[in-house]
Amino acid sequence: MPTSRVHLPVLSPAPIIGVPGVVPADPLLDGFARRIRYLRVSVTDRCNYRCSYCMPEDLGEQLAFAPRSAVLTFEELERVISVFARLGVRKVRLTGGEPTVRRGIVDLVRRIARIPGISQVVMTTNGHLLDGLAGPLAAAGISAVNVSLDTLDPARFQALTGRGDLARVLAGIDAAVAAGLRVKTNAVALRGINDGELVALCEAAWQRGAVPRFIEHMPMSEGQLYAADAELTSAQIRTTLERALGPLQARAHAGADPGPARYWSVAATGRELGIISAMTDHFCDDCNRLRLTATGALHACLGHDDAISLREVIRAGGSDDDLVGAIAAAVTGKRAGHVFQRSGEGAPTKHMIGIGG
Ligand code: SAM
Repeated sequence: MPTSRVHLPVLSPAPIIGVPGVVPADPLLDGFARRIRYLRVSVTDRCNYRCSYCMPEDLGEQLAFAPRSAVLTFEELERVISVFARLGVRKVRLTGGEPTVRRGIVDLVRRIARIPGISQVVMTTNGHLLDGLAGPLAAAGISAVNVSLDTLDPARFQALTGRGDLARVLAGIDAAVAAGLRVKTNAVALRGINDGELVALCEAAWQRGAVPRFIEHMPMSEGQLYAADAELTSAQIRTTLERALGPLQARAHAGADPGPARYWSVAATGRELGIISAMTDHFCDDCNRLRLTATGALHACLGHDDAISLREVIRAGGSDDDLVGAIAAAVTGKRAGHVFQRSGEGAPTKHMIGIGG
């Protein structure tokens, strides 16, 4: 992975595109007939880990986090999510940064879970604080967590995450399963780092009652943290897994929320796993999501920098209808798809740490 020090711009504010115009009849229907049902909300741009491909330690020291005053308050988040719910969003994923480091996260979950129309509140987390938080989060309304787990080797885990503690994360996964949460593990598949552990990562997840998933490495941060030669494609991941586990059978998408992962069953055991093939077999045609950063920038696509600031609308005294207009403008501007290149060229300037995956 790249080790040179890089200078990246501050995490926020995001660039602003367009201005709210005429609000269409269905503000959440985009120009490609995709209907938005799902909002990913980064509740903080801060993280307690320093993953080498996301926010390495030396980069972390240079990155300017958003000042607290720029981060949406719970009241602002509740208001924005209520407007989305009124328009038809049903699922909210809390992410970060690391969502569990936002003070009062359990209270925030409780507030979001009781918003009329929101039927699912889920979270993506590194799991470091989950041992203590899984029960309270479940009680507050979280129904599922995706936990990042790139390696099962404690020393490698520490090296990869900068500050991570594998034992804590495994305890967090166990606590989440014990609390009744649906749990998936997420591993960014990286040649030379965890390519020898793909099967073990599956076994570890299955043993714990979780569904393992693998993510193709994506170029963010202007491609500066991207190492094309470290990327494992979904086909390579499948081949490796099939060699050890036997044939994998494609599963149909479950329910109305297609999501970016393609799911597979191990033919011999029926065990399930997922692969997110953002680079080699993207899923943009099915995209039903928007992303809101901690500072209120609404991004219609992970792979483009376009954003509209909902915080500006709110803090300028805008009404809920003004928010709807800004949301509609973002949805109208939603691109056909991302344009991630395996060279890393044309990557968005935004950082995964700021948008939350
Ligand atoms: N801190 C939380 C966590 O660790 O899950 C949430 C934020 S983190 C940015 C969300 C997910 O994005 C993690 O699973 C992480 O491994 C993944 N990720 C970060 N950078 C990535 C990249 N360049 N390509 C693919 N996945 C990436």
